[in-house]
Amino acid sequence: MNTASAELGAVRLESLTFDNRYGRLPPDFYTRVSPTPLPDPYLVAFNTDAADLIGLDPREARRTEFAEIFCGNRLLPGFDPLAAVYAGHQFGIFVPQLGDGRAILLGEVAGAKGRWEVQLKGAGQTPYSRMGDGRAVLRSSIREYLCSEAMHALGVPTTRALAIVGSDQPVIRETVESAAVLTRMAPSHVRIGSFELFSSRRQHGHVRTLADFVIDQHYPQLRDSREPCLELLREVIRRTARLVAQWQAVGFCHGVMNTDNMSILGLTIDYGPYGFMEGFDWGHICNHSDDGGRYAYGMQPRIAHWNLFCLAQAMLPLFEMEPALEALGEFDELFEQHNSALMRAKLGLAAEQADDAALLQDTLKLLHGSRADYTLFFRRLGNFDSTCGAVNAPLRDLIIDGDAFAAWSERYRLRLAAEASVDAERKPRMDRVNPKYVLRNYLAETAIRKAADERDYGEIERLMRLLSRPFDEQAGMQAYAEPAPDWASGLAVSCSS
Ligand code: AMP
Ligand code: MG
Repeated sequence: MNTASAELGAVRLESLTFDNRYGRLPPDFYTRVSPTPLPDPYLVAFNTDAADLIGLDPREARRTEFAEIFCGNRLLPGFDPLAAVYAGHQFGIFVPQLGDGRAILLGEVAGAKGRWEVQLKGAGQTPYSRMGDGRAVLRSSIREYLCSEAMHALGVPTTRALAIVGSDQPVIRETVESAAVLTRMAPSHVRIGSFELFSSRRQHGHVRTLADFVIDQHYPQLRDSREPCLELLREVIRRTARLVAQWQAVGFCHGVMNTDNMSILGLTIDYGPYGFMEGFDWGHICNHSDDGGRYAYGMQPRIAHWNLFCLAQAMLPLFEMEPALEALGEFDELFEQHNSALMRAKLGLAAEQADDAALLQDTLKLLHGSRADYTLFFRRLGNFDSTCGAVNAPLRDLIIDGDAFAAWSERYRLRLAAEASVDAERKPRMDRVNPKYVLRNYLAETAIRKAADERDYGEIERLMRLLSRPFDEQAGMQAYAEPAPDWASGLAVSCSS
């Protein structure tokens, strides 16, 4: 357990004040449910940073009541557990009804750092479980726990993770695994699919109610605009364009960008078969179940755009088609603006010049040609010596085609010279945007195996600490910056969780 700073928060479990504004929406929006008891729960991981967001005293995690509460066995006064209903396009096909099939919203806690919805993921069946058992396995809970916090530390908007509570209850997936409950937090878990549900049912009043609810709670600055709902669409387009540009820049592949997994706040949500790209490949597919590559790395911006069309379509009762199309038409440019700013920073370029886009494309082509490790390449690029080509050997070693590297390297050198870039000044700037440590699949897998096979949760803690400072050199942790070892080359991640 991360025991840093017991002073972070002061509130005991019983003093957390819960409220559930989602539960005051009309009954068509959710079903009230009770979590299914989980036998003999125990604490697997606890995140003091997330506890701080709701003002919870981190010492509270040591109490047995903590595990009982955050697996759903014990309810605190003020809990109003419910499962939200939504719809969504899954792999491009509309599914008229989905919903929280295993996530249960307990309510919101208001702390000094805003209001946070607190959700238990894996707390049992709900009316929206379809064929599912309502459970989450320890493996996928660890993956979500680690990645959401790693993304936060990288500056990418995301849901947060408070804790994992485990149990020896068996859960059947491809093999028998054990159950766990992840406590997830976000200002809102409303998705594009939430709008699609009511629109497809022709419940246009509910579409408006949902839009008003989202605006009141999360976009209050839009309330007084002439067309708040249209402005809401615009804002979601802006945030999503920025989010996906950030994903591309850190090499994050979501894996299941269905519209029910797209947040109305532009957060990364629903971590499943995600992956940080290692060998750079535009066509990289992280989800083993994604045969057609719909959600491949290079497709993510276009899919985000497609998903926003679904949102606009669902909101059409609220505004005219023309301005909505106009707003959607701005997506590519918004994405490009963010993308080029982020990638220019990764290249260490201070000012914008005419052929930067071409340089960037050719840099990525160079990486693609060698399937060079994306994170390593950009981190090593920070050490680029513009006075002496030979010193750039660690970078050159990542590229198979020596001639192509030499030509690229000369071009990069000239581009740096064109803005009189000073190596010693550029490096710290680049190190602040090119992470040294990302959550490579094999790192998560090592933590999962230790937890599942030996009940050793120390590796989860170590990774959390490491990934909370992804840009810093950390003594003794060099091995965690290395590409996957041979044993991990066949790791496959599927939707099963
Ligand atoms: P995903 O694309 O992974 O976010 O999941 C799609 C839908 O399946 C969501 O509505 C989930 O709530 C539901 N779901 C996934 N796994 C389970 C499970 N084990 N039990 C019940 N519902 C599930
Ligand atoms: Mg989902």
